[in-house]
Amino acid sequence: MTDPRAVVAQVVDPELPMLTLEDLGVLRDVTVDDDTVVVTLTPTYSGCPALATMRADVLVALRRAGYDHAEVRTTLTPAWSSDWISTKGRTALAEHGIAPPRANDGPTDLLLMPSRPPACPLCASTDTREVSHFGTTACRSLHTCRACGETFDHMKEI
Ligand SMILES: [Zn+2]
Repeated sequence: MTDPRAVVAQVVDPELPMLTLEDLGVLRDVTVDDDTVVVTLTPTYSGCPALATMRADVLVALRRAGYDHAEVRTTLTPAWSSDWISTKGRTALAEHGIAPPRANDGPTDLLLMPSRPPACPLCASTDTREVSHFGTTACRSLHTCRACGETFDHMKEI
């Protein structure tokens, strides 16, 4: 049977299907306890509606790989940070026209607007403007680029 960690690592985020749970940095741990696979996830946002889908997708993937007994636990400490997105994940986001979150210089207050505008994924200009604090999902904001006119999603830094 495939290693359960490898099975879970390939499950994709329901809202960002170009990212695996591993690339997104939400996969904390996979252990086997007797015959039960125990998966620990840290959701990106504690209220993220994608978590229920993620949990179901993990269980289905494990069942398909032959693991009939599995459970998904969530841990909120330490809190997920957008810094946990892998380099591969950041590249995948940019390739799909989503400006990846910048590295945090310190604790980020979720309520604060980003101090630096995200770079346009099309032309890399930082002359961008936030149109809406919520994009296609709550984790994203919507921006337009003054340089090339592109409208793009930006995954927020947290
Ligand atoms: Zn642009």
